[in-house]
Amino acid sequence: MVKVDVKYTKLFINNEWVEAVSKKTFSTINPQDETVIANVAEGDKADVDKAVAAAKKAFHRHSPWRTLDASQRGVLMLKLADLIESQARYLAELETLDCGKPIKDAEDEVYFSATVLRYYAGKADKILGNTIPADGEVLSFTLKEPVGVCGQIIPWNYPIPMMTWKIAPALAAGCTVIVKPAEQTPLTALAIAALIKEAGFPPGVVNVVPGYGPTAGAALTHHPDVDKVAFTGSTEVGRIILGAASAVNLKRVTLELGGKSPLVVFNDADVEKAAQIAHAAAFANGGQCCCAGTRTYVQSGIYDQFITKAAEIAQKRSVGNPFENVQQGPQIDKEMYEKVLGYIEAGKQGGARCLAGGDKLGSKGYYIKPTVFADVKDDMKIAREEIFGPVQSIFKFDTFEEVIDRANDTNYGLGAGVITNDITKALSFAKHIKSGSVWINTYDHVTSQTPFGGFKDSGLGRELGEDGIAQYLETKTVTLALPKGPQL
Ligand code: NAP
Ligand code: MG
Repeated sequence: MVKVDVKYTKLFINNEWVEAVSKKTFSTINPQDETVIANVAEGDKADVDKAVAAAKKAFHRHSPWRTLDASQRGVLMLKLADLIESQARYLAELETLDCGKPIKDAEDEVYFSATVLRYYAGKADKILGNTIPADGEVLSFTLKEPVGVCGQIIPWNYPIPMMTWKIAPALAAGCTVIVKPAEQTPLTALAIAALIKEAGFPPGVVNVVPGYGPTAGAALTHHPDVDKVAFTGSTEVGRIILGAASAVNLKRVTLELGGKSPLVVFNDADVEKAAQIAHAAAFANGGQCCCAGTRTYVQSGIYDQFITKAAEIAQKRSVGNPFENVQQGPQIDKEMYEKVLGYIEAGKQGGARCLAGGDKLGSKGYYIKPTVFADVKDDMKIAREEIFGPVQSIFKFDTFEEVIDRANDTNYGLGAGVITNDITKALSFAKHIKSGSVWINTYDHVTSQTPFGGFKDSGLGRELGEDGIAQYLETKTVTLALPKGPQL
């Protein structure tokens, strides 16, 4: 077992490391062997109150943060990106230990997160309003101002990217934040907090309060001094957050929620290549990906060849110790492990044909065999519900019209993919599919520059790109009356 030094386990409030007011701690568990990695301070309402007070003070108009030149906010963010990269191996090891993702993936995610910080660092002094030819003898223009104090609630599947997708646009806009990492993966958020301090951000600009959703998370979403909540996680909790956000004030809300994303493969596709893309779409991060392409629709002309190939690739997928050179580690925790195994059972009971996997792997840790179901019908449980595990469902279709309707027949709308060499077909698919992202002849290609988010129950608002920073800005319209007629 790789030894990773866990340096930070306290709450990070106002650039200080503090215990929880209650003195309580909670254990974070290694999903490889179910051992305790560390005990982390458990924040709740009292700690969130302290963190919000610090963030509110840091947002005061005369504070060091608010009076800093916008360009200098960018400089601090670039420094943070450099520090994160300089610690890439350590952060990746900490992440692999805490959430079980393969070390190479964890490392890639650290570098990707640095690109997100740099993208938004460049935006900090390029936040522009408009001058407006308003009716009347007036001069009108808009100012783009930071929303204020932001509560940011992070999931466990991509802890470092999800944290940077949220703090980077907020900081570029000039907001202050309180981050609540997921209870399963608090360690890297705290390690990044240390780098935030080292980079020179003033106290209170970023605070990190680990704890549980219904206590620490809910305290953030109910707090009257929190102006905005950004959340990534389940649609179920997203609904709770939307309700809470309107209870005591009207918080701005962005939600990045679940999915049941379709990937459609047409007859003209290269079967080998298409099966590889579809495999990666379904199994990336052990299927624990909000935009995972879990519904693979294959046109009837290549269906039999395709399912054989898909099963072959899944059987070869390497699963095991994430510190080694594997494609898949354990699932995040016992609850998700059992939930995914329950879905696999439901697939078998429901009459889908299991061509690969279909069971847990080993007796220690939360490992599941990459599982492929063929002949899946649209009304089956595994076709309709988000599984969030290494399970691919393959469906047969005949026509374009039919597959568009079937692909859209879901409450979700986060990602979608199409594989074909026919550009007209591909772009017609992109036009008619109800989804926040559409990938053609690729899948899950997410970058700092491209907005990401969901239609329908997959979310509200967008992260990344130009749209991502807009969610942290208010528009203020200023109108000045000008005297009529000659003046001087
Ligand atoms: P979750 O409950 O939605 O957790 C996401 C985050 O929200 C965590 O930080 C969580 O805290 C917090 N939270 C939970 N209840 C809250 C509340 N009442 N108020 C404020 N914050 C709250 O997700 P999960 O239970 O870990 O995973 C369950 C399902 O969520 C998965 O099967 C998957 O479908 C979906 N999911 C989606 C994504 C995504 O990327 N869209 C990511 C993760 C999970 P705790 O850490 O205490 O739970
Ligand atoms: Mg853990």
